[in-house]
Formats: sequence, C-alpha cells, structure tokens
Amino acid sequence: MSFKDLQLNKPILRAIAEAGYDNPTLVQEQTIPLVLEKKDVITSAQTGTGKTAAFALPIIQLLFDKQDAPKKGKKIKALVVSPTRELAIQIANNFKTYSKNTNLRTTVIFGGVAIEPQIDVLRKGVDILVATPGRLLDLHKQDEINLDYVETLVLDEADLMLDMGFIDDVKKIERLCPEGKQILLFSATMPYKVEQLANTILKDPARIEVTPSSSVTKDVSQLLYYVPKRNKIELCLHLLRNTIKGSILIFRRTKFGVDKLEQTLLKNGYKVDTIHGNKSQNDRQEALKKFKNSYVNILIATDVAARGIDINELDAVINFDLPNIPETYVHRIGRTGRAGNIGRSYAFCSADEKNYVKSIQQLINVQLPIEEDHPYPLDPKAKPIVHKKKSGSKHKKGRKSAGSKKKKKRWY
Ligand code: AMP
Repeated sequence: MSFKDLQLNKPILRAIAEAGYDNPTLVQEQTIPLVLEKKDVITSAQTGTGKTAAFALPIIQLLFDKQDAPKKGKKIKALVVSPTRELAIQIANNFKTYSKNTNLRTTVIFGGVAIEPQIDVLRKGVDILVATPGRLLDLHKQDEINLDYVETLVLDEADLMLDMGFIDDVKKIERLCPEGKQILLFSATMPYKVEQLANTILKDPARIEVTPSSSVTKDVSQLLYYVPKRNKIELCLHLLRNTIKGSILIFRRTKFGVDKLEQTLLKNGYKVDTIHGNKSQNDRQEALKKFKNSYVNILIATDVAARGIDINELDAVINFDLPNIPETYVHRIGRTGRAGNIGRSYAFCSADEKNYVKSIQQLINVQLPIEEDHPYPLDPKAKPIVHKKKSGSKHKKGRKSAGSKKKKKRWY
C-alpha cells in the first residue's frame, strides 16, 4: 500500500515524501482510513511503529479540508494529550513536519517552563494543540484555552498517562471538549484501567492491535545476568569495557540511581548524559540532542522520562534495574533493533528482582537466555540471604573467569 492509496491530499503527500517516508507502516495503513471516517479508534501500538503519523496525518487531512483564516481567529480543533513533555514536543514536531505545506498551526504546551510565552502563542490562534495534562488544565482555568471547537481528541500513551496518575485530569479534559467529538486512544499496552477508560469515553470504537504488548521484536537479542545488587555497577563497567559498544540506553528505576551511575561512568571516562524528571526541560532536551547527535553514546534514563522518545538505531539497551511492570521491559527493549538493525538487550537481575524475571518471561512467553560467565555471578536458585554469604567466594572465582579469555556468548 502507498500513501496515495490512503487518500491524502497533495500538500501532505509532499511533506511525507520530504520526510523520507516511502510507504505507510502497518499501524498507519490500519488507522488512517478509520480516522478519516471520523470513527473513534483504540490503537494498541508501541513507539517506533509510526503511530504518531497514524493519527497526525489523517487529522491534518481532516483539518486541511476546512482551514480557517490563515492567522487570527483560529480555534483549537485537534487536541493531543500526552503524558510527558518530551513526547509532547516530539508529537508537535511531527505535526509541524507533516503540515508544513498547509496553513495549519500546531503548538505545544507543557509544565516546568514559563507559562507566558505559551499564552502568547495560544493567543495568536492554533489549529492543533499538543499538551501535557497539568499545563493544559492550568491554561484552561486561566481562560487562555478554549476547547469548545475540538473535533478530535487524541489520548496518546494512555497506559503511561494512567500510570502517572493522570486519570482524573484526562476525564476532566475529555469533558471540557464538546460532545460528539472523535476520540483516538493510543496505548502501548492495554491493561484493565485503560480498557475501563476507553469504555467510559469512546463511542463504538474500532480496535487496532499492531504489536501485541507481549511480543518482543525478533531483531532483539536478549541476555539475562544474575548479579548481586551491589555489583551491578561493576558488571556494567565490565560489559561496557568488553562487550557492549555503540549507542546505549541504560534504564534505572530511580532518579538517584541514574545520577549515581552517571557519576561512576563519567569517572571512568565514558561520554554519558541522563534524562529524568528532576532535570530541567532544557537539560533534558539538551541530553537527548547530544545523544541523537552522537556527542555522547550512553544515555541513562528513568522509564517515565524516556518513554515514547524516538531514539533510533540504538545498539543496546541495558536494564540496569528490572522493571516491576513486565510490559515496561518490552517497551524498553523495543527501542533497540528497530528498522532492521539487530539490537541487544542486557538485563541485570539481583536476588530481589527474580519475580520480575518470572513475570517478564510469562508475558513474552520466552525464557530469557542467561549469561553465566561473568565476574559477578549470583546463583539464580539461591535465596537472597544465603547468596549474600556465598557471594564473596563466587565473586573471586568470577573475577578469575573474567580474566581468562574463555567467554561464553549465547545470543538467541
Ligand atoms: P513513532 O512510532 O510515531 O514514534 O515513529 C517512529 C519513527 O518512525 C519516527 O522517527 C518517524 O519519523 C518514523 N516514521 C513514521 N512513519 C514512517 C513511515 N511511513 N516510513 C518511515 N518512517 C516512518
């Protein structure tokens, strides 16, 4: 199928061609016609599948057909709600790219930065607004945003939005938009609470499932390392020295953990940056830019900060801490091995994280291959307390084996 078959107008087709897209992705093929028919849609798709264009292109098409005056008097007709600032910026940039040959105006608003410049832009009139929930409601309360003309509401990364506690905000935003609007809900996973939300606010939605949340792309090789918690940093350094090369995204559970690992890697001469919720918006954008432009090759992130961010051609993902939600593991490693590149995922599991491995394996229906030959082993069957006593001797033994050149590599 080509983009032409999707009945998109010429200015949009030109913008797509200039963006270098040849053909629609699967999620675009399935979603675009339904959005053009003005149906409510639930699409289950992860980032990397082209899901942003799947809603952005038909929205632009629908608005293009009835464009307002070029400048003043524009009303918000499409509203995209996104859980994180980075994701909101990315979505808005995509809208701008695809609509560059039209008079449509897109703007993005998010918290953590000055509100006045956002008010200035809003007052000039926009057609498409991308927003994080808090700032959106804030500006609405200040009467700077009028949602009375919204025709299409997109809830992107709905599962993350609910995980982040935005359920009430999302419901409120939905109620502020007019009755009879079209709602598009995108979510990487479909847990019960997302289904429940969808049942409450969507009308007879069409359902599209492109990448089931439990499926791991075939182009990712996965390895599991059992390692005592206290040795994870050493194992990470060991692998960076000997095994893992290229652009690497390391996930940690906490902001504190991210900063701690950053300090260690910097001390060891690695080019590294971080993104997490405590960093200013500018610092996060800067880190992302440096990583994308290869000024640094290691980025350490928390899930919330990294989710949805489009980082292409990643060579490896390190699950330094295992996620307690198994779907998160699928998201994380879905970032590597995109577009035909083989990606590699390394997961570090300490004694207290064994249950997470169980849940991940159940979800993806695959036994994660275990790499046993490394300097900091943990007996996977050992109880945490027993292991602690034994780990000293294993540690020494492990070090020896790391020195020996004999290396067991098992990629699956
Ligand atoms: P997304 O899943 O929306 O985050 O998109 C992932 C990446 O795929 C982005 O860099 C998009 O620019 C790119 N992309 C989206 N649609 C296409 C397409 N049809 N052909 C090639 N690349 C695409």
